[in-house]
Amino acid sequence: MKNSYWNNNGVYQKELDTMWNLIPHQGEVIFPQDKELELAIESIRGLNRLYYDFYNNGCCNVVEADKEDCYECGGTGYEENDDDEDWEDCSACGGDCTEVVGHEITHYYAEMIDSMEDFIHSSNFIIDESVYSFNKYDMIDKLQKVLISCGSRYGSYNFPIEDEMKLEALADCLIFNAWNTYKERNIEKHIDNLKTLLKRKDKKTSFEGLKEREIFLWAMNFNIGKQKVSYTLEEFEKFVKENNLDDQLKENTKRLNEMYERQLDGQ
Ligand SMILES: [Zn+2]
Repeated sequence: MKNSYWNNNGVYQKELDTMWNLIPHQGEVIFPQDKELELAIESIRGLNRLYYDFYNNGCCNVVEADKEDCYECGGTGYEENDDDEDWEDCSACGGDCTEVVGHEITHYYAEMIDSMEDFIHSSNFIIDESVYSFNKYDMIDKLQKVLISCGSRYGSYNFPIEDEMKLEALADCLIFNAWNTYKERNIEKHIDNLKTLLKRKDKKTSFEGLKEREIFLWAMNFNIGKQKVSYTLEEFEKFVKENNLDDQLKENTKRLNEMYERQLDGQ
């Protein structure tokens, strides 16, 4: 397939990479001030997990067999041999006592898919039905079908191009919508404001001590809280303290100062 997020060249790869900054290394995405964005980014995280299990593990974590007691042996695992009246392993279930009656999404991933469904059903989520072969109401169903098609044939599934294309289209649509939600926040603008304010306070303040994600999160909170600009630095300092970024920030400021001094010496 030409474009795929699995090969890091999906249609909205740049957008996905930018939003990825908001996803923690572990655990769920939580934005107390912005539940709408939380849902959008959490959907991206869920999508990534599904993608990973699809391509890397053949959905062995996403899909599980739905088993019932074997009908032939009533779940005992044995059957009577008609010839010599001995008991032997049931020929229908091979002594396993159960038979596979279908496949379903495992609980852990089903919860992720539920989040995605909430996002898809939200009023801002749009699907151009001239582009995609699904709509708001069957999108999740189509996603689950691809996953189950893969996971139910574990070991023999050969990744047919139709399934890959379906998954890719579902991903495109989800990422596009998450990006729209993200864009509305003007996060980059708030980051620029923050940089300007910090520099105004202390020209030598180094911004580089903070990881992208932390800056994003902070800037986002600022945006949503709609605080006055005069609160900005105070809030920022609080944020640095709460997240134990103080040392990191100091270390980087020190390094920057040394660099300035070396430049002065050289003049
Ligand atoms: Zn049986």
